[in-house]
Amino acid sequence: MRGPLADRAAVTPDATALIDANRDERWSVADLDSAVGRTAGRLATLGVRPGDRLGSLLPTCPAAVRVIHAAVRLGATLVPLGPRLTPDELAVRIARADVTTLVCDATTEAEAVAAVDAASGDGGANDVPVPVVSVDDADAGRVTALDAHSPESVVPHDWALDSTLLVPFTSGTTGRPKGVRLTLRNVLASAVASVFRLGLRRDETWHVALPLHHVGGLTPVLRMPLYGMTVVLRDSFDAGAVAADLERYDVTATSLVPTTLSRLLDATDGDVSPALRAVLLGGAPATGTLLDRCIERSVPVFPTYGMTETASQIATATPGEAASHPGTVGRSLFWTDLSVRDDGGTERPPGETGELVVSGPTVSPGYLDAEATAAAFDDDGLRTGDVGYREDGLFWVVGRTDDLIVTGGENVAPAEVADALRDHPDVADAAVVGVPDAEWGERVAALVVPRAGTDPTASALDDHCRARLAGYKVPRTIGFGDELPRTASGTVDRAAVRDRLS
Ligand code: ATP
Ligand code: MG
Repeated sequence: MRGPLADRAAVTPDATALIDANRDERWSVADLDSAVGRTAGRLATLGVRPGDRLGSLLPTCPAAVRVIHAAVRLGATLVPLGPRLTPDELAVRIARADVTTLVCDATTEAEAVAAVDAASGDGGANDVPVPVVSVDDADAGRVTALDAHSPESVVPHDWALDSTLLVPFTSGTTGRPKGVRLTLRNVLASAVASVFRLGLRRDETWHVALPLHHVGGLTPVLRMPLYGMTVVLRDSFDAGAVAADLERYDVTATSLVPTTLSRLLDATDGDVSPALRAVLLGGAPATGTLLDRCIERSVPVFPTYGMTETASQIATATPGEAASHPGTVGRSLFWTDLSVRDDGGTERPPGETGELVVSGPTVSPGYLDAEATAAAFDDDGLRTGDVGYREDGLFWVVGRTDDLIVTGGENVAPAEVADALRDHPDVADAAVVGVPDAEWGERVAALVVPRAGTDPTASALDDHCRARLAGYKVPRTIGFGDELPRTASGTVDRAAVRDRLS
């Protein structure tokens, strides 16, 4: 099966495929298709062949979109890499995914060169660093400028449904980041199942300010020619600029994480933007306060649960379900089988928590690493490592199995306690972990970030939690800080929180 961009160009050549909001530049489908053809042709001239692994170290920009579709045209597996990773972090991923050519731009060139050098190991005679190609001008020393080469003509690759289209890496929240094999089948099934839940408008315009190495940012770019929609790119999440983009480009849909949605609400009043019909909200738990703000402001929020291994969404709630069932991530998508299981793999009854296990056509066939695959995949599907429950056919995600606190034999989901703390008017944010305790095995401990200008006491927070939570869930230790420690990808660094509170 060929990449859909050329077919799209034959159907609606004059439609707008891409808008770069940073420069207010537009590409029609025909223009983008030709530019992708040239990019693919130049990469072919530089030796990129079907089956190669093409690393992409680019910000959220039009060149990154060209490289993504050029990889599809060439038959190369795309390995999208985060431009904020350090050279050493990149080197690990480059080596693990066996990247054969790395694409950068002027902003990522130095990291790209340092990373391929670090990945090439001891520099022995056969240990030649991976070639680095820049989409910008480059000194012809270590880095080759893509545009300096004339394009070869490329016959669009005929992909088998089960060949690996992409290898994105997980965020590394629970351990080493894992390279995930996503096939053409995974990506197509996800595109179809998503649209069955969200619907599709004739004038669909999707705003992307997420990085393009995460499935949340990558999927709209891959779906653009399938849906015939316009993608608007913004290179970083500046809430004021994003709010202006939403109005200016009549954006109908966007994907946000809780922190960016909250900043967008802070930067706007009333109706966020008249054309906006779907805000996919996922990646991390959304607080009750954030969802209440969305409902008050009539923001069409679709709480979503998903992960790299499932090519994005697994379950999505409609705005109506989000309002009637606080905290839900909704129903699983068509064809996706989501279940709640105990350690032995037996399904848990409705209302009872267990590990979320998922199977279906969007689920990756496995990681690059066979051992990691064997540890997470079994006959029931992928053990997500997330804890959740199901009620009325809807799902809730309450935390990760690794984070569950076991105190005196009772299980406590940290997210539930953190939510209760965040409901206090003087609490801006909170993280809850288990710390070792001689009597209880673990005890519940919380790190609290007070709202600016307030000074909540531990005893006030204790009263607040006691009114809302069973006694064994109430934090025994409360610490205060100016901010929560976070990992490179923005998730709370739970190990650092534990160190602060132990
Ligand atoms: P790693 O797998 O390397 O530890 P990661 O799981 O953070 O990293 P991602 O694939 O980027 O990497 O994130 C998916 C995870 O994000 C899910 O497994 C889940 O824990 C969390 N998540 C996603 N959506 C939600 C949601 N709506 N509510 C709660 N958690 C969510
Ligand atoms: Mg994960």
